[in-house]
Order: sequence, then structure tokens, then C-alpha cells
Amino acid sequence: MGLSVLDLFKIGLGPSSSHTVGPMVAGNRFVAELVSRNLMEQVASVKVELFGSLAMTGKGHATDTAVMQGLSGEQPDQIDPDYAPELVATIRELQKIDLGGIKTIAFKEESDLLFCFGQSLPKHPNGMTLSVRDEAGIVIYQNNFYSVGGGFVLSEEETEKNDQPEEASSVKLPYPFENGEDLLVMGRKSGLSIAEMALANEALLGRSDDIRKDLLHIRDVMNACIDRGCVRTGVLPGGLGVKRRANSLHADLLKKQKSGDNHLEAMDWVNLFAMAVNEENAVGGRVVTAPTNGAAGVIPAVLAYFEKFLNKDGDDGIVTFLATAAAIGMLYKKNASISAAEVGCQGEIGVACSMAAGALCAVQGGTNEQIENAAEIGMEHNLGLTCDPIAGLVQVPCIERNTMGGVKALNAARLAMNGDGSHRVHLDEVIQTMYQTGLDMHEKYRETATGGLAINAVAC
Ligand code: SF4
Repeated sequence: MGLSVLDLFKIGLGPSSSHTVGPMVAGNRFVAELVSRNLMEQVASVKVELFGSLAMTGKGHATDTAVMQGLSGEQPDQIDPDYAPELVATIRELQKIDLGGIKTIAFKEESDLLFCFGQSLPKHPNGMTLSVRDEAGIVIYQNNFYSVGGGFVLSEEETEKNDQPEEASSVKLPYPFENGEDLLVMGRKSGLSIAEMALANEALLGRSDDIRKDLLHIRDVMNACIDRGCVRTGVLPGGLGVKRRANSLHADLLKKQKSGDNHLEAMDWVNLFAMAVNEENAVGGRVVTAPTNGAAGVIPAVLAYFEKFLNKDGDDGIVTFLATAAAIGMLYKKNASISAAEVGCQGEIGVACSMAAGALCAVQGGTNEQIENAAEIGMEHNLGLTCDPIAGLVQVPCIERNTMGGVKALNAARLAMNGDGSHRVHLDEVIQTMYQTGLDMHEKYRETATGGLAINAVAC
């Protein structure tokens, strides 16, 4: 089955798609596997082992709490963000976990949830092993899961299938594409835009009864996140002492709006929108993974900018924006990676910037060639971007980096709109370059918080 627009925009919880959303999904799936194998009755204990980047930055990214929530039967898109910390506090206080809401067993984090520093599973840097034992202490079931970026999770078996050439799907999509060139060629033949082709495919993917309605809901969740981020104040959790800034920035902007004294107003709004989302992400709030949580502010910021300053097409403009962005995101998912543990921040902020740039170009009437150009520019100038979150928290440099991604997307769209779509470097080439650069990147710059700002900036 092909990728859906909804795979690129998942409603979840902060602060990380790979480290929070993915592990919660894995915990939930593991419990479902126990139920489907009729093992629940025999289960006496459960063990979680976190490897690679999940171990290195798991504390700062709330991987431990996310797995506990998943094992308790919760899902990222459904859990109430206000209830989530309460659930974990109860598990910690009682030293018991209610597996899937079905069976309560003893659970001590010190012995049952292990951060396996310096060890990795073979298939991906974000690996975890979940296992259960019976009363006699014998392992009765275990599975490995890999959180491969953007909240996508693969089991051990699924990663093995992923290594094989893709099986021909029984569903024949009207506009199947593997790369940017496919989109351009089909667009020329059909006369359709990238968004129209993506939406035509969606009708056959069976993921949504009403994709338009679902995309508008995604927009609403993004905007609700911006609104929450604009009203909340205080210091972000985790010990870095980072103050929330969106609230005061918002107040300043409203004042300047009245006085008319702001030559770069649009840029300030993009900064505000991105900051508001990522401050909410940092506190574990409700965000849309777009295409990851660390980069969750870029696309909502550019979309909100579009709605505030440019949109003349109402909901049609929103649908076109999100469908175009998702189609571009699929190119990265298919041909490179959106996991910072694999390719650094290029795969998060870089991809989000590229998606937003292409989408903004599309809603301003750009041709498919101009959209492809905008998406290419959006990534070309994020190549080599490392992932080095201080103290493993998705705060510094992540929050400001979203503002930069948003503003860069505006400029990329503008550059592309000022051209005719012809350009020297193609999107497919820059995607390949991003992937190769990521694979060459030293491990310490790939979400391990052991290089860059994470070691040169004092974490107190
Ligand atoms: S530095 Fe970039 S990739 Fe790394 S956690 Fe922050 S936003 Fe995500």
C-alpha cells in the first residue's frame, strides 16, 4: 500500500516523533500482539530495552514515558495531553502497569525499562526490544521495533520485508510516483497539479473517507497548537531553563500592528507561529507531526502565514497546501529519510522547509516545475544540518530552528516564483545528496546529543 497524505501529518504528542510518538505506537502494538496471540493471561512481567539514539536522548525526548503510555493502551492521536503525565505518575507511584487496560502487573522502571547506552539494534539507530515473561521468568514473547522517523514504526519482521524489493500492490494508483521527475512527467501529461495527483491517489488508498475533511482537521489541530502556544507562559521543562517566548512575541506583534511600525511583519508572524508550536511540542502538548515533531512548527507556521496574508481560495487553498506538502514529504520518505537519527536535522527541519516551500509556491499559483524548484531550494540550503539538541531536549536549537525553517521556506517559494521553473539542481538530486550527506555524518551529529551545540553549550 502506498504512502498516504495522512502518513505525513499525524496527530500526536510532543516532544519527538521518533522518540515519543513512535515508542508509544510500539508499546501499544506490542500489547495488541500479546492479545492476538492469547498470551496476556500468562504475562507476569514486561521489559523494555531502548537502544541507540532512543537510549542516548530518550530521557530528554520522553521515550520512557511514551512507552509506558503505549503499554497502557494509549495511542498518540488519542491520548489526552493533560492526562498523559498523570498516567505515568500513577505507574511510578504504584510501581504497576495496566497492560492495555487489561492486566495489571508489577513494573519497576529501574529494572524493567532499560536505557542500553552504547548498544544498537542492527536495522536502525532507533531500536527497542519489548519482551514479556511468565511467572517462572521464562520469556514467552518478544519483538523488536524500530522508530524510523515521523512516528513510523516497523517491527523486526516489517524491516525484513522493507529490505526486499517492494511487492506490487494490488491497488493501482492513478498517479504512482517514486520521485520528483515522475510527478513532473505525469503532471505534464495529465495537466494536473501535484496536489491534484496526490488527492487522486488518496481516493484509492482507502485511508480516508473524506480526505478534504481530514486535511482541514489537520489544519485546525495545527492552528489550535499555535493558539495554545501563544497564550502559555513559563519555563519549559527539562532543566535547561528555557523561557517560553511566543506569548510576549505575540503581544509585541499586536502592538506593532496597531502602530504600523513593522517592516518585516510577515516574518515576525512566521517566527511567532513556529515558536508557539515548538514550545507546545517541548512540553509534550498536542502537535501535528509534520513530518516530524522536532520540525512540527515549520509547516503550520507557513500555512498560518498563508492564511493570514495570502489565502483567497478559502479551504481549497488549505487542501492544496497540505496535499502538495505531503507529496513532497513522500519523496523524502521513499528515497532518503525523515529520521534525524539517520540523517541529522536535514531530515527534520530540512524536509519540513522543503515541503512548506513547495506548498507555498503551489498555493500562489506556481507550476509543478516551480513547486519542484521551491522544494529543491528549501532543502539545498539545509544540506549538512546536524542534530545536536542540548541535553537531548527538543528545545535548543530546535525551537528557533523551526522559525528559521519557516522563513527559509518563504524565501525558497519566492525565489522559485520569480523564476520559470527551470533550474540547475533537481529535487531528486538534492534528496539523494541529503541522504548521502546524512549517512556520511558522524554519529555524534545524528540525534545522540554527543556533538555540536549539545557539548559546546553549557546545559545549565
Ligand atoms: S536539532 Fe533538529 S533534528 Fe535534532 S531534535 Fe532538534 S529539531 Fe529535531
